Amino acid sequence: MNVINPATEEIIATLQEDTEHSLHTKLEILKKAQKEWAKRDLAERIHVIQRFDDLLEMEKERLSGVLTSEVGKPLQQSRNEINGARSRIQWMYSNVVKYLSDEQVVKYNDLKEVISYDPLGVVCNISAWNYPYLVGVNVFIPALLAGNSVLYKPSEYASLTGLEIEKLLKRAGLPDGVFQVALGGGETGERLLDMDFDGYYFTGSYRTGQHIYQRVAVKMVPCQLELGGKDPLYVADDVKNIEAVAAGTADGAFYNNGQSCCAVERIYVHEKVYDSYISSFVKEVKSWKIGLPTEEGVYIASLTRKEQLDVLEGQVQDALAKGAVLLSGGKRVAGKGYNFEPTVLTDVSNGMKVMQEESFGPIIGIMRVKDDAEALRLMKDSVYGLTASVYTDSLDRAKGILAQIDSGTGYWNCCDRVSAGLPWSGRKHSGIGATLSHQGLRAFTKTKSWHLRSGQ
Ligand code: NAD
Repeated sequence: MNVINPATEEIIATLQEDTEHSLHTKLEILKKAQKEWAKRDLAERIHVIQRFDDLLEMEKERLSGVLTSEVGKPLQQSRNEINGARSRIQWMYSNVVKYLSDEQVVKYNDLKEVISYDPLGVVCNISAWNYPYLVGVNVFIPALLAGNSVLYKPSEYASLTGLEIEKLLKRAGLPDGVFQVALGGGETGERLLDMDFDGYYFTGSYRTGQHIYQRVAVKMVPCQLELGGKDPLYVADDVKNIEAVAAGTADGAFYNNGQSCCAVERIYVHEKVYDSYISSFVKEVKSWKIGLPTEEGVYIASLTRKEQLDVLEGQVQDALAKGAVLLSGGKRVAGKGYNFEPTVLTDVSNGMKVMQEESFGPIIGIMRVKDDAEALRLMKDSVYGLTASVYTDSLDRAKGILAQIDSGTGYWNCCDRVSAGLPWSGRKHSGIGATLSHQGLRAFTKTKSWHLRSGQ
């Protein structure tokens, strides 16, 4: 299996994919190791994760270089990702005692009722490439803290980072066998679905997620899915600083080259502020430096997957054929690398692919609306339900709109952000279950209810 640098199109590593035999061997090791790991005190498990967090800081420059070389994101965004992952890890180890300790819910006379949180066993984590550290730690850190062992299958586009994570966990003192990496693409993932894991935690596309959910159902084990989105954003007519709103929302759409599950994917703007919003938005987009991910100050670098260039071209062509206007970009960048110009389409309608299908790239459709009712109707018009955002001076106005949208997250005057303290969850085609927050810490456990009577 070749690892290709998306910015240079050069092969930078050749790795051995896992086979059916090697995967079964890893599972046996994981089963054995889990029993010992679960017996350790929570304090000891926390200590290992703290050490892992320290190592991420110590190795940040090198790890950022590895990440950038295989996914193509600007080096500074790789550093930001590791910083972000560290703050999530810190929240998790600081809160895990509170949320995984036995909980006494009732005590009267000689009776106590208590909940305990037991590890599931061996957890299978099939992951994505767009933020391998962030989406990875959402799963394997709480899973390990809870006393599980983890089979981590990085995306085939983030294999080198997966191997770095494994090495760092070992250096942090994680006992041998508790965390193992499975290398390969869809075929490797498919093999894992045939095996005997105690829970499946997937981050990736709706298409693969739905397939996994069906395949795992017969096993009667937990299966959580963090999937894609087509996240809408509405700019109301009472926003105070239209330039700042345009710059902030452009970043929400284009950060990481638009390859974020919660990237802003559709923008609706009140007609009263539409013209000034569009001119500030396009000015912002045109100010960005495009280039190699290793160059200082570059904001738009390479896409990770070559195939996505066709998807983006298809969305532009579909939009233009249906009457959209192109204000910026619209095509591949000539030369080496999977590069696409940051693209702004206006006069779009919800019937266009760019407003319905996840773009996962540097492209945005912006539409004029006459009032909040029209904005709400259009925002709701999606099979996805990950996040939605409203920019307005009024909290009541924002909440009135966001409460009616079936999404896991609502943003007022912000977008494209994730917090370790809040559940990260999608609705509809965006997923099932939650990571992060107390829910995400408990997602890798099974509860036991204890009825404890001291007298007979
Ligand atoms: P993908 O579905 O193509 O692949 C995800 C993982 O599944 C990879 O490891 C892949 O090898 C594996 N896989 C592929 N076919 C499989 C099969 N038949 N059985 C088992 N495993 C299989 O997704 P991707 O391109 O890696 O990631 C992009 C998608 O992930 C986008 O839709 C994005 O929105 C979503 N995403 C969601 C979140 C979230 O938190 N909701 C976070 C990041 C990414």
